[in-house]
Amino acid sequence: MAVVGVLALQGSFNEHIAALRRLGVKGVEIRKPEQLDSVASLIIPGGESTTMAKLAQYHNLFPALREFVTMGKPVWGTCAGLIFLANKATGQKRGGQDLVGGLDCTVNRNFFGSQIQSFEAELSVPELASKEGGPETFRGVFIRAPAILEVGPEVQVLAECPVPSNKVLASRADVEDQEEKLSEKKVIVAVRQGNLLGTAFHPELTADTRWHSYFLKMSSGVAEGASSSIVAVGGE
Ligand code: GLN
Repeated sequence: MAVVGVLALQGSFNEHIAALRRLGVKGVEIRKPEQLDSVASLIIPGGESTTMAKLAQYHNLFPALREFVTMGKPVWGTCAGLIFLANKATGQKRGGQDLVGGLDCTVNRNFFGSQIQSFEAELSVPELASKEGGPETFRGVFIRAPAILEVGPEVQVLAECPVPSNKVLASRADVEDQEEKLSEKKVIVAVRQGNLLGTAFHPELTADTRWHSYFLKMSSGVAEGASSSIVAVGGE
């Protein structure tokens, strides 16, 4: 049975483990750097990224997490986890915070507003449509959610979300320079860059396991690629 690590410092790690269980996959709680050695892929859950970063600092997890990413192992960040994976985060209240990085994008924290501005939205995600003609729509749960405001050339955009007409956004200094993008009234909320997946919303809080299946499929593809390159090297 495949084993997936789930960073279990804070936030919705139990919900990710439950979603994996529904797919017959074991999720293992990760709290210490050495525990990363025993898993082939990792989910960084939603929660509160400043708190998560402080706990990761305390447990000296950043070097091991960065190594995990740079080794090309599959990592999926949801919401606060997406912020963790981004190369750059804006919209911080007090100073910055440590990031794992690797995902070539700029994420704006709390882009959609505070807790009371949390919402659900029907997203169009062609990657989730099944070959048998299953739906490509996915109901995204956005809680104090970030948005992805810039992406690098290697990044594949998987889903966008309309920006709710919300005057709070228009007056925010940290998104003013994004005026042009905001006027399009859509922002990026799901991306993939090779072994890295990021979603601004929380699939683990729904009964729909298609994002978890997508990550597992993506992970097995990365593993296959890795083993075939080992075979190629061994064969020379
Ligand atoms: N806005 C939160 C943060 O900055 C993330 C919210 C979430 O994970 N639901 O950490």
